[in-house]
Order: sequence, then structure tokens, then C-alpha cells
Amino acid sequence: MLKHPATGQEFGSPVAPGTGWPGDLATPQTPVAADAAAVTALAGAVGSIPELDAAVSVCRACPRLVTWREEVAVVKRRAFLDQPYWGRPVPGWGSDRPRLLIVGLAPAAHGANRTGRMFTGDRSGDQLYAALHRAGLVNQPTSVHAADGLRANQVRITAPVRCAPPANAPTPQERVTCSPWLEAEWGLIAEHVRVIVALGGFGWQVALRLPPAAGLPKPRFGHGVVAPLASGVRLLGCYHPSQQNMFTGRLTPVMLDDVFSNAKKLAGIK
Ligand code: SF4
Repeated sequence: MLKHPATGQEFGSPVAPGTGWPGDLATPQTPVAADAAAVTALAGAVGSIPELDAAVSVCRACPRLVTWREEVAVVKRRAFLDQPYWGRPVPGWGSDRPRLLIVGLAPAAHGANRTGRMFTGDRSGDQLYAALHRAGLVNQPTSVHAADGLRANQVRITAPVRCAPPANAPTPQERVTCSPWLEAEWGLIAEHVRVIVALGGFGWQVALRLPPAAGLPKPRFGHGVVAPLASGVRLLGCYHPSQQNMFTGRLTPVMLDDVFSNAKKLAGIK
């Protein structure tokens, strides 16, 4: 057992459901999806975002990813040897009624897989939340752990794969197995969403499979591209704020600011 860096409460790694981890909505009674069919069934039955987030956070449907996320949680990275690791799937984070939805790829092994919150505790998240704060879409510029007081302004961040994959590369089968969770999430928030920002080409392809894109031509991904979807929803492309993209200058803070200021304006967020 190790102490949470903010609350000081002790946890094992991975964290057992319902033991007090900040933001953990699951309990020992939350139903666990053990295979793809169970993901489909449970995702189809949830009636609210908290219910969905709880179910996602205990899913065990992809054996390779369950093994990896839990092994990483036990072995840890040297810099975080004194911390408990979440080591579970990471649910979407932010508003339950978002006007802006941000779609990434998958949690990072020592970021969200450690902290239990999307894009929290790694370099990509540092860049993303700093940009969201400059745009007035979150209340603070940093996102370091799940008890840091971060709040979203009509924004939700999600991913098509909820477990940290080896080499940041989920298999096609794992992507398919996880997809009902995002479809269920979309069904619960769709009436509010005006803009989707896709972080990278994979997020773009995923967004183009959501219902507002059904039957429409499939535009190519590009940074700054704005694609109109059905029902007035707009899809914006943005390079992923990965360490490599930021380090090489392919993506800069100014480029992130341009995307999110445009997204905020198109979404009608004050
Ligand atoms: S990737 Fe998705 S479907 Fe697979 S175990 Fe994680 S949460 Fe479940």
C-alpha cells in the first residue's frame, strides 16, 4: 500500500473499486465486463454518465491490456515508485453536458494509468490542459492528479480505448472491443455537443464513425481542418499534443490555442 500524493490515503496498485480514490465512481458491486459481448451489453444498458464511467473503470474485456495496465501499475516508473497507480480503465472526464468533446487515443501508461484521469500526469496532458486553460475551458493550467480541483467549462475529454496499451498501440480487435463504451458515452451527451476536437488521425477516424458523420463524405484529417457534420456539429482536427509533436515543433502552443479558441467560439461556450 502506498499513499496517494494528494490525499495521503493508502491504496494498492491497481486501485480496488470504491476504496476512496478521488473521482472513482465504481464500487465492489459495479458489474465487470469480462469480454466483448459483456462490454456491448453493459454499455447498452447504462442510463447516465456516472453509471457509464463506473462501468468503464472496472472493465476487463481485453486480456492483453488488463495484463499490461496492471503490470505497469505494479512495476511503475522510477519517478513514481512512491505512488499508488490507478491501473484501471480511464473513463471520460469533464462535463456531463459538454458543448465541446475532445477525442484522444488511449491513456498513457504512467499518466492517466497512474492518476486515473484523462491526460493527467504526463507531458501531453501538461500541454493540453495548459491550452484549455488559456482558452478558458478549464479552471487551472495544470492537471497533476485526480484531487487537484480541476474543473471543466462545458468540455469533456474521452478516448476510444480506455486502457493504456503497450507502445501506445491498441490492436484493431481491442479498438473494436472498447468501441461500445464511446458509443454509449456519445448517446448520453450527443444532444449537447456542438464541436468535436479530434487529437490526431485516429481520433479523427473515430469521430467520423459517430452518428453525426453517418452517410457523409469522409474528409481527410489535418491540423486546423473544420468538417461540418450532421445536426450542425463540427469536427476539428488537431495534432496530438504528444511529447514528440511538441518537441519537434510540429505542434506549438500557438497552434493549440488557435484550435481551442476556434472550437470554443464554434461551440458557443462563454
Ligand atoms: S480497452 Fe476498453 S474494452 Fe478493453 S479492457 Fe480496457 S476498457 Fe475494457
